[in-house]
Amino acid sequence: MNNESIRVSYGTAIVLGLLKARQDVPPTTAYLLFDKGCIGNCSFCSRANGNKESQKLSRIIWPEFSFTTILEKLTTVPLPFKRVCLQTGFNPQMNDILKELVKKLVATGISTSMTLSPSQTDLALEMLAMGIDHVGIGLDAATEKTYTEHKRKNWQTDWPSLQTLLYKAGSQIEVHLIFGLGDTEEDFIKRIDAIVAAGGKVSLFALTPVNGGEAPEISAYRRVQAFRFLCENGVISSQNCRFNDGRLINYGITETALVAALQHGDAFRTSGCGNCNRPYYNERPGQVFYNYPRALSTSEFAQALSEMGMEMTAELF
Ligand code: SF4
Repeated sequence: MNNESIRVSYGTAIVLGLLKARQDVPPTTAYLLFDKGCIGNCSFCSRANGNKESQKLSRIIWPEFSFTTILEKLTTVPLPFKRVCLQTGFNPQMNDILKELVKKLVATGISTSMTLSPSQTDLALEMLAMGIDHVGIGLDAATEKTYTEHKRKNWQTDWPSLQTLLYKAGSQIEVHLIFGLGDTEEDFIKRIDAIVAAGGKVSLFALTPVNGGEAPEISAYRRVQAFRFLCENGVISSQNCRFNDGRLINYGITETALVAALQHGDAFRTSGCGNCNRPYYNERPGQVFYNYPRALSTSEFAQALSEMGMEMTAELF
């Protein structure tokens, strides 16, 4: 354990002064990755199935450093980050090492999140009891069909145990969902609704097709993104919405109310734990952001509204 190494996201390494490169939008959370011996087999993951060669997870490169160095950098005043997120692979045999890492991160006093799999809900409660601030659960797929196909795990056991976790500790749980795995907007929105109804929040991602497939249409992503924001803020639920062949066509509120509730574009920013902005997880620099890692300008908000394809008039915002 003393010589343990850990991966950190490329952007995190730049902020910590471990790499020198230009950075358009710095991360506001330090992203660490510990996935040694991951036995997960998610269809969309570049590191699935023991692919040790890949330095990537999603679009991000994760260089490796000694854990001691990272702890030193994270705790050097002025503190470079307000939150740390320890992203983990799935391997129950690594739980003891994981707990050691968590102990040391919690001891820094910096708010610490971590990610776990839906089949690790007991471990999630243990980690919260150890002082972890929030746990991100990688449900990723919104229905049994896509979960079986892409996560290759058991929905019949995993979804109910995630629901139980949400009832117990929902205010500290962010369920990670990826739009673009084949779920319709309607199925996806209903899953967001069920998560919020059980007390949790949703951390939304767009599929990054590193292993094939296609990134979702921006218009469908914007509609789902807006729904997540409205639902978590208690403005609407899926029951207010109308769908046509799985596509969201109406939120059940007036356009004026809708635009006001999207709060100058905050609806289109990265969602999840406080200070988690995940820049460039889903897109290359220069491409339109699926998740904006910062506040939107007025013109970016106008563009996001028009991307929703809801035929809104310009004078509404
Ligand atoms: S929302 Fe962000 S900080 Fe929270 S668990 Fe997910 S990736 Fe980590």
